[in-house]
Amino acid sequence: MTDNILKLARNNIQKLIPYQSARRIGGEHANILLNANESPTSIFFQSKKKSFNRYPECQPNNLILSYANYVDLSCNQILVTRGADEGIELLIKAFCEPGKDAIIYCPPTYDMYRVNAKIAGVEIKEIPTIKNTWQLDLLNIKLNLSRVKLVYICNPNNPTGNIILKKDLISLLNITLGRSLVVIDEAYIEFSPQESMTSYLKEYPNLVILRTLSKAFALAGIRCGFTLAKQEVIQILNKVISPYPISVPVSDIAIQSLEVNCIKLMRNRVLDLNNNRIWLINQLQNCSCVEKVFESHANYLLVKFFMFEKVFLTLWNKGIILRNQNEKINLKKCIRISIGTYLESLQLIQELKIFSEQNIFQGDISEK
Ligand SMILES: *Cc1c(COP(=O)(O)O)cnc(C)c1O
Repeated sequence: MTDNILKLARNNIQKLIPYQSARRIGGEHANILLNANESPTSIFFQSKKKSFNRYPECQPNNLILSYANYVDLSCNQILVTRGADEGIELLIKAFCEPGKDAIIYCPPTYDMYRVNAKIAGVEIKEIPTIKNTWQLDLLNIKLNLSRVKLVYICNPNNPTGNIILKKDLISLLNITLGRSLVVIDEAYIEFSPQESMTSYLKEYPNLVILRTLSKAFALAGIRCGFTLAKQEVIQILNKVISPYPISVPVSDIAIQSLEVNCIKLMRNRVLDLNNNRIWLINQLQNCSCVEKVFESHANYLLVKFFMFEKVFLTLWNKGIILRNQNEKINLKKCIRISIGTYLESLQLIQELKIFSEQNIFQGDISEK
């Protein structure tokens, strides 16, 4: 009986491997969570609204005004969504014909571009970035543009932490002009604000930018993101978004988080985390279990370990939860570590030093 019910699901859904979110993998009862790139600290908000019998506005006007002010764009260039994740999904819904159109994405990167295309039955063209520099393979992208409606680029890239060269992004916008939208996921842009592409929106009608309050703004729990694009693109997305995607408490708190004093707090938090990152890189480079630390411009580090599996499990058992990247293309033996508070980073390093003393790595045959 249940077997038959399962067969009712669409074929691609039956075969689908769902997104492995940090919260699904578990470990949330541990004491140090460094696996979801969240802010390790929080500010405390109170909802100003007290009654909830009415539906919210589809696109909360005051929230759009606040964000427009923050990014220096006009209101008609902004869509509010249930996290940046909903923006990823809406773009595919609105622009890709199932079984006909395609998307390009460039792994190793954020997995939700692929997962959403899969769910929608839209073809996925994988054009991996160049190994170790993690820059775009522009030639291959150019050769594979047929039927492609959306090119997803994550900048700074998750999980590698690098910045995509601005000149490459501009080349990409030029080669796709009139054929595909380039969607730049700027979930971590507050950690490298000079790299934002928002100023190119007036020049390139095919540019779309995704933003979120989940990372630098420390509001992953409220689920609020933004899609920035030309007015025409925003109008199309407004046709497919659900009627009331943003609940009243969410817009209420999001608006507070965009007030001048909160933006100042956010910028200070970013400075702290960027400093912790520099400290952590130095410390990691002195651990003999570390094979390589990749340069990062966001609130996480990609690190290649000797005996990565044992490192991961040892820390897990100590209540320090990291994100295993070993299964991702070109990321063998790599682990992603979110930047926590100074104390959390210190505890991580202490455990890694103990681990390093108890094991011998260089030239370890079992690992080769
Ligand atoms: C965390 C993350 C998101 C998701 O953002 P939400 O607003 O929480 O949905 C999107 N893109 C990237 C690259 C991320 O790392």
